[in-house]
Amino acid sequence: MKAYVDKDTCIGCGLCADLCPSVFHMDDDGLAAAIEGEIPEDAVDCAQDAQQQCPTGAISIE
Ligand code: SF4
Repeated sequence: MKAYVDKDTCIGCGLCADLCPSVFHMDDDGLAAAIEGEIPEDAVDCAQDAQQQCPTGAISIE
């Protein structure tokens, strides 16, 4: 499973990085980004939590 952030939709609220810092971080542009590789197994739950709670639906997990 991998996580993706749509930078056109992200508003830079920081919630995903707070909820799941091992998968999401805030970039220099003030918007979130996800790790490139597979989501670590122990971070799948928090990544899905972040996806559900993102206020703009910018996160996808595939
Ligand atoms: S929770 Fe959504 S809107 Fe907020 S920083 Fe993360 S991806 Fe962007």
